[in-house]
Amino acid sequence: MLRLIVPVPSDIKDDRLQKWGLSLGYSLKAGMQHCYMLDGSEIEFEFEGPWQACEGNTRYSLASLTFIDPSLGGSGYLHRIASEFDQVAQQALEHLDHPGCETACYRCLKTYQNQRFHDLLEWTRIVADLEAIVQAAPVRQPEKLGDVFNPQPLLD
Ligand SMILES: [Zn+2]
Repeated sequence: MLRLIVPVPSDIKDDRLQKWGLSLGYSLKAGMQHCYMLDGSEIEFEFEGPWQACEGNTRYSLASLTFIDPSLGGSGYLHRIASEFDQVAQQALEHLDHPGCETACYRCLKTYQNQRFHDLLEWTRIVADLEAIVQAAPVRQPEKLGDVFNPQPLLD
């Protein structure tokens, strides 16, 4: 599985967070399917959170976007997805570029499998986030002793 742990403001309304996380996650899932020619059953998505966190004097919440390769032993494409995440976001943007849809439809984000979330899907909320991912290609960084996770830039 590929898990993105995202710091969010601790006062964010739950409804707003669910809309953001589910819309972003299902958009990225669509981008992954386009990028690597996967069908809907070859990659699964789960949104979890929020839970409370604290770093120094900063209180914040964490949410997680998890992409799961359900095949036994894994197919190996999650490593490629992680290293080409900007291209995944670009594919998601192209997928979302369609006329006559203001929140979500069966052409873009809605599927039979995610029908319990249909009311929460709203792709216009997350286009700016996808554009930011496109601008920032992933960089592999080995963890060093003394590395401290500072959530402040992301919270800002
Ligand atoms: Zn649509």
